Amino acid sequence: MGFRFANVDGRAALVDADGRWYDLERLTAGASPADPMAALADPEALTAADAGLTAAEADGLLTDARLGPPVPRPGKVFGIGINYRSHAEETGRDVPTVPVVFAKFPSCLTGPDAAVELRSPTADWEVELVVAIGPGGRDITAERAWDHVLGLTVGQDISDRALQFAATPAHFDLAKSRDGYGPIGPVLVSPDRVPDPGDLALSCSVNGEVRQDDRTANLVFGVPALVEYLSAILTLDTGDLIFTGTPSGVGASTGTFLQPGDVIVSSVEGIGTITTRCR
Ligand code: ZN
Repeated sequence: MGFRFANVDGRAALVDADGRWYDLERLTAGASPADPMAALADPEALTAADAGLTAAEADGLLTDARLGPPVPRPGKVFGIGINYRSHAEETGRDVPTVPVVFAKFPSCLTGPDAAVELRSPTADWEVELVVAIGPGGRDITAERAWDHVLGLTVGQDISDRALQFAATPAHFDLAKSRDGYGPIGPVLVSPDRVPDPGDLALSCSVNGEVRQDDRTANLVFGVPALVEYLSAILTLDTGDLIFTGTPSGVGASTGTFLQPGDVIVSSVEGIGTITTRCR
C-alpha cells in the first residue's frame, strides 16, 4: 500500500525503495496525469501504480533528478507556532493551550535542493514535519485524521525574525513567506510508508553542525489534533499543507542567523533529507 511521490522537473513521479524514480504518466501509459497536483488528487491511482514499480524500468535516480516541491501549488499552507515544549521554553513563551496558526503563502514554496536568496541578515532555520491533506473535508475528527493525510514531507519554515517582530502583534505570515522561504521534499510519503507517523525523528544541521534534534511525538498538538482543529474552522482541500512546528535549536535562541553560503540540511525519519543553500 501507499507510495513515495516526487515532482521531477514539474512532472509527477513515483519513487521506489532504492531511490529510483518513474515518470507517472509514462508508467501508467497515460492513465495518470503528468501534473503533480492533478496526480495527487487521486491517491488510489498512485497506490495502484506503485504496485507496478517492481516490474517497470526506472527513469533515473532521485539523487540525479531536478526536483520541485512535491506539492507545488497547494491552495492553503498553514504554519503552527510554538508547537514543541522545548521551543516554547527557548522562546520564553507558555506552552499553548490552543494551536497557534499562521499562513505561509504558497508562493514561498520551493524544491528540496533549492538555493534560497536571503533577503535580510535575520533569516532563521526551522525544520518541520509537513503534512499534505487528501482527501479534504470539514469537521474531521482526530480519530479519522490520518485517513485524511495524503502524505508527509520534510520542510523548512525559514523565518525572517526582524520582519516577524517588526509589528505588534507579530507579522508571522509575512516573515515566513518570503520567496523561497518554504523548501519542501524530497518526496511526499504516504503515512503507511513511515515507521510510526506519530513519532518520527527530525533534525536540522547548519554547515554540518547539528542545531535541532527531536521527535514528532513531542509535538504539543500532533497531526490528528491539528487536522481536527483546522477542519472545524474551514474546509481542508487536497494538497493543503500544514507545517507542524519546529523543535528547539532555532538561531534566534542564540542570536545566530543564516548567512550567504550557509548550507541547511533538514531530515525527517522515513521521508528523507532536503539541502538548502543560502545565497
Ligand atoms: Zn515554524
